[in-house]
This record gives sequence, structure tokens and C-alpha cells, in this order.
Amino acid sequence: MGRIVGIDLGTTNSVIGVLEAGRPVVIANCEGSRTTPSVVGYTKESELLVGQLARRQLVLNPRNTFSNLKRFVGRSWDELDENSLSVAYSVRANDQGNVRITCPATEREYAPEELVGSIIRKLIDDAETYLGESIESAVVTVPAYFNDAQRQATRDAAVLAGIKVERILNEPTAAALAYGFDRSSSSRVLVFDLGGGTFDVSLMRVSNGVFDVKSTCGDTQLGGNDFDQRIVDWLAEQFLKKNSIDLRRDRQALQRLSEAAEKAKQELSGVQSVPISLPFIATGKDGPLHIEANLDRSKFESLCIDLLDRLLLPVQTALSDSGWSSDDIDEVVLVGGSTRMPMVQQLVRTLVPNQPSQSVNPDEVVAIGAAVQAGILSGDLRDLLLNDVTPLSLGLETVGGLMKVLIPRNTPIPVRQSDVFSTSVANQPSVEIHVWQGERQLAADNKSLGRFRLSGIPPAPRGVPQVQVAFDIDANGLLEVSATDRTTGRKQSVNINGGSNLNQDEINKILAEAKSKANDDRRRRASIDSRNNALTLVAQAERRLRDAALELGPYGAERQQRAVEISMRDVQDLLDSNNLKELELAVSSLQEALFGLNRRLAAEKRTDSNPLQGIKNTFGSLKDELFSDDYWDDDPWDYSNRDYIDRRNSPRRDLDPWDNDIYR
Ligand code: ADP
Ligand code: MG
Repeated sequence: MGRIVGIDLGTTNSVIGVLEAGRPVVIANCEGSRTTPSVVGYTKESELLVGQLARRQLVLNPRNTFSNLKRFVGRSWDELDENSLSVAYSVRANDQGNVRITCPATEREYAPEELVGSIIRKLIDDAETYLGESIESAVVTVPAYFNDAQRQATRDAAVLAGIKVERILNEPTAAALAYGFDRSSSSRVLVFDLGGGTFDVSLMRVSNGVFDVKSTCGDTQLGGNDFDQRIVDWLAEQFLKKNSIDLRRDRQALQRLSEAAEKAKQELSGVQSVPISLPFIATGKDGPLHIEANLDRSKFESLCIDLLDRLLLPVQTALSDSGWSSDDIDEVVLVGGSTRMPMVQQLVRTLVPNQPSQSVNPDEVVAIGAAVQAGILSGDLRDLLLNDVTPLSLGLETVGGLMKVLIPRNTPIPVRQSDVFSTSVANQPSVEIHVWQGERQLAADNKSLGRFRLSGIPPAPRGVPQVQVAFDIDANGLLEVSATDRTTGRKQSVNINGGSNLNQDEINKILAEAKSKANDDRRRRASIDSRNNALTLVAQAERRLRDAALELGPYGAERQQRAVEISMRDVQDLLDSNNLKELELAVSSLQEALFGLNRRLAAEKRTDSNPLQGIKNTFGSLKDELFSDDYWDDDPWDYSNRDYIDRRNSPRRDLDPWDNDIYR
């Protein structure tokens, strides 16, 4: 089996990890950061951007930049509340009631899974570069509270990225794996995960490599974004009162407000008061308007009291489902960037008296756990066993619209459960199996996962036919339902994918399109790369010619100098006429010519009896500097190929290779 990576596909940030020499590590992306913003965008020229680059264009290109996509994954239009829809890009429902995201730059609509697929692809691409091998499969984490449709949709997103999902793993379980995989003692752990868009709680027992999840609960529509929104509203209301302009109606202003709010929120985790300054945020009758405000921590906390309240219930529910009391908890593991807020930490302490564990980085712990799970699946890690549970009850609709639960929530998975049902009227030829997920008594109050019909039931009085319905949940938490008529043996089974946004045809279509797109992108990238290579080599050659003239005089190494000049001119001409086909050849002859010249210069340096000693002495320090290794290592203008071949070891690793500033 090839290597399996672990992916934490967050609402705000995504992280990829892998097992290296038996230990899980996080892989930095090609921009050099360990977390990648879960943002996808298209430039005005329809070029796809993912991560930091996309995030950077949030303010300037809000309609074509998509963040917080996870809240749309696997959800139908009807399920979205107003809060989820408050994004700067356009979201709409298609004919089937599925969520579609409109992108003006590409004049296309995307399913959320498709855009999330691009994030997965970027993580995988960067990991492949790092590992130097191709990756085909991954463990992908989801909030424990994700329902079946959301899990299916997450798997679809990976499929669209060309990745096989070996396991869908619950985020808090992943966190516990990361926390406990090298601990031998037995403890009861509460994982409290508050990220950008979701909240998850899980209780589990970790003991000698065995992870038993006891219960899990959460809120898929609660996270750091909601805290940002409070600051946005606070600022916008004040502005509205003062200037009669609602900034939330202007996409760019809204985006700037959101960014400033998030920044202020994060800073308030460290200090008591922060200034917020947004110059030129709008234009009024008398010219430009600005925001200058001060937010202190207590004010911020007072804006968020009800959000804190919403954190309580899932913790209490998880505790009561597990049968443990808060005194039984040995460890609290805090996960997610939002647990850095002092008010959240304080709340946790009022729930469970112990000091939360600081041993794992809240941003990386989920990806680390996913990498551990990947190691278990690939057989690299032994002696670890994970027993997870299903987060929500599953059942079917019976007479009167009641929900008959077959698998109650927090049942360990994988699991198979069946029950026998009958007809409700005489001579009923078929029955409809309507599958629901949720905790409400009336089926219609829960989430419909799908329905199918078992027909061909022989005529019989009401209540006589026996239809056996079986629910199977695999280790990913994904459900398959089957119904069998016991008289005829007729069987009907379905993989439930009612809530998934895409059917197989659509997935195939997108995959085909992506493939041709990827070739285009690769070609475009390759051509940009080769142009840049050529440009930097020309700059280098010019400099080296100047050195040679200083060093040896204009005719000191005439043959080599000429050779460089001629090849340089060739490269320049091909660049001007954009002839990329022949450029490569010309670049390599220029490289060769430069090599000749460099060698000549080096030889010159070694020869003591140089007739141009005088000149040499005059410029000696410059030349020595030029030839010392340090100089070349630090030279920000030296674009010898090393930057492309091994960007990771280059000192510019943290620079964005597409940032035009450094090429200009
Ligand atoms: P997700 O799992 O949803 O991708 P993360 O765990 O990466 O989310 O957390 C992202 C959230 O954490 C964002 O809302 C971000 O503003 C918030 N966050 C990050 N650092 C801090 C901080 N120092 N104080 C408060 N919130 C923070
Ligand atoms: Mg997370």
C-alpha cells in the first residue's frame, strides 16, 4: 500500500500530516506555512488560487473568492440559515435544491465539494513535493457531528481531487489519537474543539493504545466566525447610526470589516484592548468616511455571551450520554484556534475543573491524529485500536410520520442493525423506506437522508408481509440501507447519499473537466516558469559580464565573454518573440556559456601573476565578496535554478514564488 496522508479539512484552515519514521509530522505547504487557509479563488484571468494566495485577494476580489466553504458541504439549500449565507460571494440553489456557488470570473457555478476538492488537491500537491512521491489516498477528518450527507460530500470532494479516502475520521477522535497515541496510562479525555465554523465535543477513554469514544456532540454552525460577526455588527451598527450607511451591504467594506474583526478578536486573546482602524471604508456626502474604534476585551465578551451559552449544551449532552460526570474527566484537550480566547478557556474550566492539556498544538492536533490513523491503516503503527461512534440517531419513517430509530446515537461503529416492518394497508404492493437522521420524534423534523421503494410484495392482509430493513454503518460512519421481503426474498439496497450535492454523472463530468484544466494549468505554469528562469539567467549573465569587464578588462576573456553575449541575445530575442519552444535550448547554451565564463573568472582569481593586478586590487573586495559562498546564498537576485529545484531549502522558501514584486 502506498503512503497515506492525514488531512484536517478545516472551515478556516487546513493541515496535512504524514507518518515519518513512526512519528506523525505536519507538512508545510510550498509557501512554507504549516496551515493552509481553506480559501479558493479565481483571479480576473480565471486562474485558480488556493490558500494564502486566495486569501490575499479576499478584499479586492470578493465575488470570486470563496471562504468558509465547509458550511455548505453536504447541505441542501433549505437547511442553511441566514448566518451561513452571509458571505461576500453569491450562493444560490439549483433546481434540485442543492447549493451552488457562482463565480463571475470563470462564468461558472460550482458545487461546494468541487471547490473544497481544490483545497485537498493543493495540500496533496505540496505533500507530494515534500515527500517526493505521489499520493493516492488519505484519511480525511470531519466534525464528529457531521451527518451522513456531509460525510458523503466530503468524500466526493476528495474524489474530485483524485484522492481515495481510506477513512473518514471524526476530528475530536483524531485529536484524542494525537494526544494519546504514545501514552500508556488510562485516562478519560474530553476533547473540546472550537474552530472557525464548527464546534465539537467528544468524550473518550484512552487506555494502552485503545481509544474508545463514548459520546460526541456539537454544533456544526458555531465557531470563531460567529465571534467575528459580533464585532462586525458592533462596528457596522455604530457606523450606521452615525452615517446612515450600512457597511454590510457593500461586499468590499464587509470583507474589510470581517478581516479587521478577526484580527481584533485574535489580538484580544493576548491584550485587554485593541484599536480598530479602517480608513476610507465608505464615501459619504462630504467625502470619505473612516472607522476609528477601540474594543476592549470585556466589551467583546459582553457581545458574545449567548455564543458562550451555546457551547454549554453540547458538553452537557455528551457528558450525560457517556454516563460520566465532569469529575470523572482526567484530561481536557483543547482543539481549534478559537479555544485561544480567554473566555472560552474560562468556560471550559467551569465545566471541568482540570487544567486543559497544553501538550498538543491546537492548530495541528487534528492533522496529526489523522496521520496517526493513516499509519494504523497502512500498518505502520500497530497496537493502536480505535473504536468510534455514530454521532446521530438513524432510523426510518413509520406510520404517522414517526421516526423509528434503528441505530441510536453514540453506538460504536461499524455496526449492523435490522428490524422487521410490515404493510399498513391490505394488498399493499410496495413499501417506501425513508431514511432519516436526527434526534426528533417526528421524522420530518430530522434530516432526510434518502428514500427508496421495495416493490413486488405479494397481496396480503395488512400487517402480514414481513420486510426486513437493515442499516449498515461502516467505519467511516457512512450508511447503507437494505430492505428484504422475507416472503419473496426480494432485496433492495442503497448507499444513502440523499444530501450529497453531486450525483455520479456530475462527479465524472467535473473530473474530466478538471483533468483537461490541470493540463492547461500545468502548461501555463511551465511556460511562466521557463520565462522566469530565462529572465533571471539573463540578469545573472549581465552581471557576470560586468564583473568580467572589471576583472579582466573588456577583452580579457574575449571568447567566453562573446559566447555569453551571443547566447544572452538569443535568449532575449526568444523571450521577446515569446518562442518558448526554442527558449529552453537557448537557456541551456547560455548556462553553458556562463559556466565557461565563471570558470575563467575563478581561474583568474587563482593566478597570482595577473597583469591586471592593479584593477584587481582596486575591486578586490568586491570580487572576493562575489566569489564567497555566502554572497551567493544571500543574493536575493540570484535566481539560479535552485529556487525551482529545491525551493524548500532555499532561504526564500517563505516568499511567495508568484509574488510579482520579486520578479519585477
Ligand atoms: P477550523 O478547524 O474551522 O479550520 P481553526 O482551528 O484553524 O479552524 O481555527 C480558526 C479560528 O480560530 C478562526 O476563527 C480564527 O479567528 C480563530 N483564532 C485563531 N487564533 C486565535 C486567537 N489567538 N484568538 C482567538 N481566535 C483565534
Ligand atoms: Mg478544525
